[in-house]
Amino acid sequence: MPFLPQKPPITGETLDSLVERLEARGEPAFRAKQILEWVYKKRVRSWEAMSNLSRPLRAWLEETFDLEPATLVLGKQSLDVTDKLLLELRDRCLIETVIIRAPQEGVGLENSRKTICISTQVGCAMGCVFCASGLAGLKRDLSAGEIVSQLLHVCHREDGRTRRSQPERVPFDNLVVMGMGEPLANYEALILALTIINADWGLGFGARRITVSTSGLVPKILRLADEPLGFRLAVSLHGATDEVRERIMPVNKAYPLDTLIPSIKAFTEKHGRMVTLEFILIEDVNDSLDQAEKLRDIALDLHAHVNLIPYNTVEGLPWKRPSGNRQERFARVLADAQVSVTLRREKGHDIEAACGQLRLKTERGIGAIPTLNPDSSIPDPMNKSG
Ligand code: SAH
Ligand code: SF4
Repeated sequence: MPFLPQKPPITGETLDSLVERLEARGEPAFRAKQILEWVYKKRVRSWEAMSNLSRPLRAWLEETFDLEPATLVLGKQSLDVTDKLLLELRDRCLIETVIIRAPQEGVGLENSRKTICISTQVGCAMGCVFCASGLAGLKRDLSAGEIVSQLLHVCHREDGRTRRSQPERVPFDNLVVMGMGEPLANYEALILALTIINADWGLGFGARRITVSTSGLVPKILRLADEPLGFRLAVSLHGATDEVRERIMPVNKAYPLDTLIPSIKAFTEKHGRMVTLEFILIEDVNDSLDQAEKLRDIALDLHAHVNLIPYNTVEGLPWKRPSGNRQERFARVLADAQVSVTLRREKGHDIEAACGQLRLKTERGIGAIPTLNPDSSIPDPMNKSG
């Protein structure tokens, strides 16, 4: 159920589609490049500012396209390790985009490496029992233009404060599609958006720095493996046996492990690069030694990296994170077998927690958007995961 806005976002157009629209109006094709340059390289925020275009053309653009399909409602002025941007779409739906900084010595927070986490849906239909994003079900898919727009908002926020040798380059280092929603359930819009983000006429951001996270939609994983751009894949496993996984992730009924694992293998074989298995540790649900051993075997078989994420409690849900000792005991089983594994010891703040918990906080009123957890600093998890 896509939302049909009055004007399509300019951020959902490709160079080709824009050329077509312009030629139909009798404009030369090169205007399309000029327009996209204003949007993605100079990153102006009004049609008026596109000074090398004629007035009638600017007026036509204004009538025809939405330059900013999302409006920033809230974003703190101060810099924090994790910053969230709350964006309002044209139909008043709210989404969030997260900026996660990995503090680096000697460069200051503003110039530290940044990972951006974007949303692909309003809500989520997958119904994972531990997740805030899925609590109220799926409201709607985002359009490609709305997905891309999140990154332009990040640019507008960060451009002024990040030192870069080439100002046209985007002010972030990694992109994870781990915000609200199941990206592979909104496949067409996702791929169109990532194509625009990657294109040299778009944001020019390398496909290898883009990680798509999925709860395990097998046919779409196979399709993603065939995409020419070569995005990275992370799979939310969270259970090393069907019995455990099925209890917390309904998707496992449709795609149990004996279909999911071969699809991940196929992806790895096509790309020749490690896939990341995400595994949230939830007390008494999936944190036993038996689960650790099974996860170890899966990871060895897939030659995958494992990202262990202590569960972040969600208000209203009964799940808890295990004790530090238990987390470490779990991680040791993997590390002892030479599995590439990371365990977040910090409270909150890691990318998955930051991204996985967006919905509730958004829905509980725009008055007080908290930072996720004001008490700690993070390493850059995506650095290690691939
Ligand atoms: N739908 C996709 C991507 C968005 S969720 C997916 O499921 O992979 C991003 C990650 O956050 C997933 O690994 C998800 O399981 C995790 N997550 C969700 N709720 C969480 C919580 N409360 N604490 C920690 N991680 C959580
Ligand atoms: Fe949806 Fe991912 Fe949350 Fe599952 S973990 S409900 S797939 S956003």
